[in-house]
Order: sequence, then C-alpha cells, then structure tokens
Amino acid sequence: MTDKDILIIGAGLAGSFTALALCERGFKCRMFHTHSDHKSSASMVPLALYNPAAAMRARKGWQAETCASHLEKAVRKLLEYGTPKHAFYADNGVLRPALDEKMKRFFYDSTQNEDWPENWVSWMEADELEKRFPEVEHSFGAIYVSAGKTFDTPALLKQLHGLLEKEYNCIIQDEKVHSLKRSDEQWNATTNKSTYSSNKVLLAAGSGSFELIDLSNQKHHQVKGQAIEIEKPVTKDNYPSVSSKGYIAMLNNKAVIGSTYEHHFDNLDSTEKGIEILKNKLTRTFTNTGNGAPEVKSSWAGIRITTPDRMPLLGELPGEDGLYLSIGFGSKGLMYSPYCGELLAAHIQDGRDLPFEVSLKRQLPPSD
Ligand SMILES: Cc1cc2nc3c(=O)[nH]c(=O)nc-3n(C[C@H](O)[C@H](O)[C@H](O)COP(=O)(O)OP(=O)(O)OC[C@H]3O[C@@H](n4cnc5c(N)ncnc54)[C@H](O)[C@@H]3O)c2cc1C
Repeated sequence: MTDKDILIIGAGLAGSFTALALCERGFKCRMFHTHSDHKSSASMVPLALYNPAAAMRARKGWQAETCASHLEKAVRKLLEYGTPKHAFYADNGVLRPALDEKMKRFFYDSTQNEDWPENWVSWMEADELEKRFPEVEHSFGAIYVSAGKTFDTPALLKQLHGLLEKEYNCIIQDEKVHSLKRSDEQWNATTNKSTYSSNKVLLAAGSGSFELIDLSNQKHHQVKGQAIEIEKPVTKDNYPSVSSKGYIAMLNNKAVIGSTYEHHFDNLDSTEKGIEILKNKLTRTFTNTGNGAPEVKSSWAGIRITTPDRMPLLGELPGEDGLYLSIGFGSKGLMYSPYCGELLAAHIQDGRDLPFEVSLKRQLPPSD
C-alpha cells in the first residue's frame, strides 16, 4: 500500500470521473459498485441529458464553460480509446418548447440576459418553431440549446470502466461494501468477500453513502425519480431531445421520458401514478404527432441526492483523515461530475483548495 492507493466506493458518474482524474495523476484505484442492482445508482438512468440551460429558468449553470470542457475532454478520451460515438452519446441539442407565458418569459430572458458563449442557445419564435419542429407545442416559442447532448449513461459508464481497467489497471468490483471503519491509520472497507484497506477512501456511493458513515451534518435530501422507455415519438435522424417540464431524451432508437420528483417514498418501485405523470409529459409537449399516449416498454427509478443550494458536496470529512466525499449532484450529474472529479483529484493529491461553491466546508459552522 502506498500513498497513491485509494479505495473508491461508488462507480456512478461521481466515482468514475474522479477515478479517471486520479488515475491520470498516477493513483491506483480500486472501485466498488452494485450495478447488478440497476436501481442502486442514479447514474443507471437509461438516458440522460447534458443541458447547460436546465430547470424552469433555463439559467446558465455554475462554471458552465469549464464544466462543458471537462465533459468534452472525457468524451474525447473515450472516442480516442475506440468507443464509437453512437454507442454512448449524441450531439443532438436540446429543444425546450415553452408551455405557457411564464416559461416563455423565463426562457426568452435567459437567451437575452445570461452571458452565453456563442452558439450555445438561441430563441425561436412560435412561427419558426412550427416550421422547424412541427411535432411539438409551438404556441409560446422555444429555447434551443444547441450545446445540449444526450447520453446513454449506463453505456457511458461501461466504456469509462473499460478504459479505467485497460489503460490504468484500475480494479472495478461489483461488490457491496457493508461497512467502512477506521483502525489506526487506515480505513477498512468490508464486503461479503474480503476486507480492503487503504489510508485514503473516496465515498461516492450516492444514496448508499448514508448507510456507511454518519453524514447527518451534511445537509441533503433524497429525491426519487422515475423514468420510462417508450417508442420514439419522432423518427427523424438527429432530432433534438426535448425538455419542457420533464424531458424526452432520444438517442439512436431509444426514447426515455423523465422524470418524477418524489420527496416521500418507501421503495424504488415504479408506480402507476408516476407512469401517468410521465406519459402526460410527452403528450403535453409533443402535441402534433397524432400518436396519443405512448406505450411503455420499460420503467426505472433511482434516487438523486440534492443539497439546499443544489450544489455537490466535495472534500475530506472533518475529523475523518483520508475519507473524502463526493455526493449531491442532484439532476446535474453529467454537467458537474467530470469537472468535480478533476477538482477533487487535485484536492486529494496535494490538498489544493476546492471552490467554496462545491466544498462540503460551506455547510460547516464558520471557524474562529
Ligand atoms: C430519473 C432520473 C433522471 C435523471 N436525469 C438526469 C439527466 O437528464 N441529466 C443529468 O445530468 N442527471 C440526471 N439525473 C441525475 C444523475 O443521475 C445523478 O446526478 C448522478 O447519477 C449521480 O451520480 P453519483 O455517482 O453521485 O451517484 P450514483 O449514480 O447513485 O452512484 C452511486 C454508486 O455507488 C454504488 N454504491 C452504492 N452503495 C454502495 C455500497 N454499499 N457498496 C458499493 N457500492 C455502492 C452504486 O452501485 C453506484 O455505483 C437523473 C436522475 C434520476 C433518478
């Protein structure tokens, strides 16, 4: 065991992008996940959007250009590694038709008032929208996010894990960690098969993190999200994914409607109510396909961890030498996790300060 050995609990977007940045710095990583249970990881959502103009107000996200360049760098790395592009993502943009006057005002204001890089977003009036995308609700116009991308996230992770194993000898194990305990100078992570030890551990286990360590001081909230796979509502090539209130992500022959936001839940089963809400998201946005309610091919649910300010929690846990945390990506895993992975890897390597906006220190009481 050396100072460059690290155990990473969690191989979703947060754990995997941090592993890549650590491997690039010469660390030897051993990662654990439980992906054979598809619902244990929010990152196993069947399709997800990278949308820098997300949410109701379509505002530009935190460090949007830097986040975009780190996502692009990771994508480039996977393409150079030989992954065919269509296997995990499409640059098809995200079309956001407004569904009422209020959305129209928010979306339009975003195109006018935010400091967007050239060619990232544009406003489309109703007549232009009807001409270019006659299938969607066009009465209130739309914001078109040409920088938006659609990812098959399980495929992205599969490719990324392949690269980590082959290029960097990273060990990736489908084994649930049952306990994480400290003895002397090291952390011991115990699975059904063995106990693994290191003086550095990264806990990036999403909703599973809370079973392993007391994180009650870190303010967070768990939100269940359901998604369904349907027939593609539009079969034209390279049609943008669509996001109004909820999204219809499209990649290759697949279309996924997401998602619900459920603050009280007992389990991760898909529910009739959830499926109904999702179907309505499609019919409310795709008003002119003549197809009516979609047939559901499959359903899925996962848990997002959100924080009061909707920003991730990164850093070494106070009083827990060598135990680092990376959780709280909410609905923005694709946007934030590649850049946060770089930031956290630099912090683990040489103690470089993390930006306050993503540091877990922002939730601690101020020190004298
Ligand atoms: C329905 C839905 C739709 C979404 N849509 C989008 C979208 O369009 N765009 C977007 O950017 N984001 C989206 N998100 C959010 C995104 O999925 C999350 O932000 C992101 O996946 C969080 O990644 P993570 O690595 O922090 O956590 P997770 O993906 O939850 O990863 C946790 C990891 O820890 C492992 N694990 C947990 N417990 C243990 C244990 N005890 N032992 C070993 N391993 C363990 C899991 O197997 C997994 O590998 C969506 C989420 C949901 C639920």
